[in-house]
Amino acid sequence: MSVQQSKASSVDVIVAGAGFSGLYLLHRFRKMGVSARCFERGDGVGGTWYWNRYPGARCDVESMQYSFGFDDDLQQEWDWPEKFSAQPDIMAYANHVADRFDLKRDIDFETEVKAAHFDEAARQWRITTSTGETVTAKFFVMAGGCISTAQIPKFEGLSDYKGKTYHTGKWPHEAVSFAGMRVAVIGTGSSGIQAIPVIAKEAAHLTVFQRQANFTIPSRNHKMTDDYAQSWKAEYPAKRQEMRYMPNGVLRELNDKSALEVSEEERLATYEARWEMGGSGFLGAFNDILTNKEANDTMAEFVRNKIRATVKDPVTAEILCPTTHPIGTKRLCVDTGYYETYNRDNVELVDISETPISRLTETGLEVGDRAFEFDAIVFATGFDAMTGTLFNVDIRGRGGNALKDKWYAGPRTYLGLMSEGFPNLFMITGPGSPSVKSNMITSIEQHVELVTDTIQHMRDSGLDLIEPDKAAEDEWVDHVQVVAYKTLFPQANSWYMGANIPGKPRLFMPYIAGVGSYRRTCEQIVADGYKGFRFEAPTALAAE
Ligand code: NAP
Repeated sequence: MSVQQSKASSVDVIVAGAGFSGLYLLHRFRKMGVSARCFERGDGVGGTWYWNRYPGARCDVESMQYSFGFDDDLQQEWDWPEKFSAQPDIMAYANHVADRFDLKRDIDFETEVKAAHFDEAARQWRITTSTGETVTAKFFVMAGGCISTAQIPKFEGLSDYKGKTYHTGKWPHEAVSFAGMRVAVIGTGSSGIQAIPVIAKEAAHLTVFQRQANFTIPSRNHKMTDDYAQSWKAEYPAKRQEMRYMPNGVLRELNDKSALEVSEEERLATYEARWEMGGSGFLGAFNDILTNKEANDTMAEFVRNKIRATVKDPVTAEILCPTTHPIGTKRLCVDTGYYETYNRDNVELVDISETPISRLTETGLEVGDRAFEFDAIVFATGFDAMTGTLFNVDIRGRGGNALKDKWYAGPRTYLGLMSEGFPNLFMITGPGSPSVKSNMITSIEQHVELVTDTIQHMRDSGLDLIEPDKAAEDEWVDHVQVVAYKTLFPQANSWYMGANIPGKPRLFMPYIAGVGSYRRTCEQIVADGYKGFRFEAPTALAAE
């Protein structure tokens, strides 16, 4: 407490969140001589990787690429134990970065930003925290992550259930044992698909409740080899630069052929090779998988046939075969032994696509006229993504207008970075930027560098206020949708579309034109004198 009290109540910048975005922001601000304070609701750094400690949690972007590229000594010295790192290893990395650059002293842990109000007369943000502190700053940066507000559906009887409950995105810090227990997992997205094989090995019995089946590809994860790590380290700066202009911010082999222009033999051989390679690079097998339904169908059927070949019980196999959306239009999952798990005697799959969970009871739950009893229920039911964390803070801009009200029909941003009416408020990987449709660390680095360079530009030019033009923002909002509707993405009831939260506006939230194309657009906007942004110099009142 005494540490917190000694911290400044007025700084240049306030940052919400100490995940990878918050850490890199603090590092850049420190180097620029800009005073910053960061508030973090957890008691440690790491963001997503701090909260998602569920069994099997692992990143599905390979670690040589899912890591910071801004400091060559850091990337040369850090060693990853596996190709796709598990949550504890990514947490260790986040802590290493925080300690290496001495960032923790600027972070108030277990402190949430509750409100952020823009004071128009003083031209500064007034931030109120969960500890009751009020801090002012010229700039406010929301760095709370895109997938950080866990959601449990409002099942009838939710509070009646007396057994243990867990949400994958809010997993306890102490060890959880399912040994000897009857366990339910509700949800088969990326989190459920990673947790299910691990829980199945420990629990006495596991029942999985599946609403829509999802596509998942084996990760083929393995221990990192020295040769592979060295192949990256020897050329890291050049490879990082290439990643920054790749469609997903990931260096991978893309095939610039249509799935429909090759023979069936070549098509199947290509899918087979990528299936054997493992990981989400599977989607790069052909160039039209996400834009042409007929091409997409060939890939989807290939995966369904893999499911049928893996899962011994044909009824279970058919339930696991996804049919509700084109492959890749919901986040493609990456697993370790997922489909094989359904061959275990202690695992049952319950299809709730037609008859949903009717209620939770004291001892379990009911689906139609079938009652289940459980010692523990794991909710792998996802997040109020992209906007949920922003709306958890009472953000008010000019005229006291709430961000939530402005965005009632969906997020409105310029570049996913700022919103008109909210001067000097930046969002890291906000809606309308590539964000969740990319290697998050590549996109985080790009946004952090853009925000910090912009603040440096303002300091150099004697400017103290930046805000996007309404016309530029309106055009960007439309452009994000136009690009999305050229693809198959809007055909899925996905969280990208806000479809997982009842009442949430339906529109495609990330920017899908690609990391490289987005980066070039940002570079051009800056080169054109920050086209679409408006700056102001300090007024006499604000300067007092
Ligand atoms: P998710 O993809 O939103 O999946 C939630 C699951 O819960 C879905 O299967 C959904 O069914 C089900 N569900 C939601 N409400 C339900 C209800 N009322 N009744 C029954 N089922 C319900 O969430 P997630 O798995 O936590 O993943 C979220 C995102 O986090 C991922 O897409 C990915 O971007 C990221 N993530 C990444 C990794 C990784 O890098 N390996 C791991 C985990 C998460 P429906 O499909 O029918 O809606």
